[in-house]
Amino acid sequence: MSLAASDQVAGAPRPRFDHDAIVIGAGMSGLYQLIRLRELGLGAVVFEAGTGVGGTWYWNRYPGARFDSESYSYGYSFDPELLQEWSWSEHFAPQPETLRYLNRVADKYDLRRDIRFRSRVAAAQYDEVARGWTVTLEDGSHHACRFLITAIGVLSAPTWPRIEGIGSFRGQSWHTARWPREPVDFAGKRVAVIGTGATGVQTIQEVAKTAGHLTVFQRTPNWCAPLHNRPITEEEQRRIKASYPEIFRRCQETFSCFLHTPDPRGTFEVTPEEREAFWERLYASPGFGIWVGNFRDMLTDRAANREISEFIARKIRQRVKDPAVAEKLIPKCHGFGTKRVPLETNYYEVYNQPNVLLVDCRETPIERITPTGIRTSEAEHEFDIIIYATGFDALTGAFDRIDIRGRDGLALKEKWAGGARTLAGMLVDGFPNMFMLLGPHTALGNIPRSIEYNVDWVTALLRHMREHHLTFAEARPEAVAAWMAHVMACAEGLLTFEVDSWMTGVNRNVEGKQTRTIARYAGSAPAYRAWCDAVAAEGYRALTLA
Ligand code: NAP
Repeated sequence: MSLAASDQVAGAPRPRFDHDAIVIGAGMSGLYQLIRLRELGLGAVVFEAGTGVGGTWYWNRYPGARFDSESYSYGYSFDPELLQEWSWSEHFAPQPETLRYLNRVADKYDLRRDIRFRSRVAAAQYDEVARGWTVTLEDGSHHACRFLITAIGVLSAPTWPRIEGIGSFRGQSWHTARWPREPVDFAGKRVAVIGTGATGVQTIQEVAKTAGHLTVFQRTPNWCAPLHNRPITEEEQRRIKASYPEIFRRCQETFSCFLHTPDPRGTFEVTPEEREAFWERLYASPGFGIWVGNFRDMLTDRAANREISEFIARKIRQRVKDPAVAEKLIPKCHGFGTKRVPLETNYYEVYNQPNVLLVDCRETPIERITPTGIRTSEAEHEFDIIIYATGFDALTGAFDRIDIRGRDGLALKEKWAGGARTLAGMLVDGFPNMFMLLGPHTALGNIPRSIEYNVDWVTALLRHMREHHLTFAEARPEAVAAWMAHVMACAEGLLTFEVDSWMTGVNRNVEGKQTRTIARYAGSAPAYRAWCDAVAAEGYRALTLA
């Protein structure tokens, strides 16, 4: 029986909902939430802007897109059968494979029958009388539900650079997060890439393989480290499949749900030789170890951070032949790991190729996009293709793009104007019956692990509400204040928060996002889960339930 049909408030007219729950987004969170809602017996629909499932992995089909976390730590953990059925081909799987995987999940659970594709949500309005939400799609249709669940991702609102003339270019141009389905042939073409974040790095190293000429426009260099990807052998495949319980147990225990976790030693508690040997080992190892498995004080102690930054700078100097180019590629304004570390495969060697040019936008800023290319303060560059790897309006951007209005018509965008305030990234006071999966201030890291936890937490709350015949859930302001105090405390002393990046809520291409905020929860995933588990264990006293 559906919740909407069974939970009528005594004496009140039966609210007429089209669905018990509406989920926005058919990415990893939306798919898993739909499975759990069905298990609860709730009638749910998922509205998805794209034409297929996959979210991040549907949209980000740019050349070279792949996992930066180990494939076998990334998939869903909730279905042991699926874990045995699916074989990842590489330690860090490429995007087409991940998209195939998510389609396989959608097939297995017959999810598409409850997903409306090409359905972009434009607005959502809370209805105080009905205790539910009316969701409006871009086509103007309205859909009423008791519960609104946002599954819109952390990095899903792409941002184009604010450069004059951007619409005037006569060649081909794409944002990496809006990449076409048809393969793009770079052979013999003059290609530009703007942006050198994790996306730009993956794109550049791939495009450089075939482009006639590649020009990279770099505003801020990033500290990158080797991915060390390779195929998974049959023997490894057997071992991985036999050890899934251990793999996921490990992910639950580590700081950010990766297989790697900080080394308990301080940088200066070991001899210089031991330090160097440890870093050499990390640099030669696959994945994020060098970022999240490094000495525990790497992101809190300035001298420690300087040491590791110098180690990585030495690596860049060794790998890039032209010393002047190497210096341009070495960050000077932020230390190693204070931003998300892009993982790379021969990225630095790309700059040794005769067909690749690095343009430093700090020395020679881009002035405008012209019909034939890009004009900097120094030169006119002609291109056939311009690739914008210019990132996202992260964390809150996807929320801002929907006109979400809670009690008294209050707009979420307005409420969050001075920075997002949430209860554990999942609820907002003033926005009853709205639950966010991966909202601001959830523990991020190995994202699917956060997704599964958030979905299970929301599902448990819905189960609790059904068992107690409740139709209203709203975060209490004092609980939000307590959570935000915890978020602030976790951020204290972290070098990460002294740097402009999407993790500190800065995007110079978005109005109103020029100043740093504590946009991201910086505590550990186990601490995050402990906090949320306590809310549930205390009978959800942090929420007003009715
Ligand atoms: P990003 O890290 O925000 O990088 C955007 C890049 O565009 C920066 O280099 C930025 O320079 C540049 N840019 C923006 N506007 C510009 C302008 N007007 N002129 C010149 N340059 C401009 O975005 P991203 O690379 O898409 O990565 C975002 C996040 O997505 C990553 O941190 C990661 O969490 C995730 N991601 C994950 C994977 C994976 O797991 N495999 C892969 C890719 C991305 P400034 O730094 O100077 O602003």
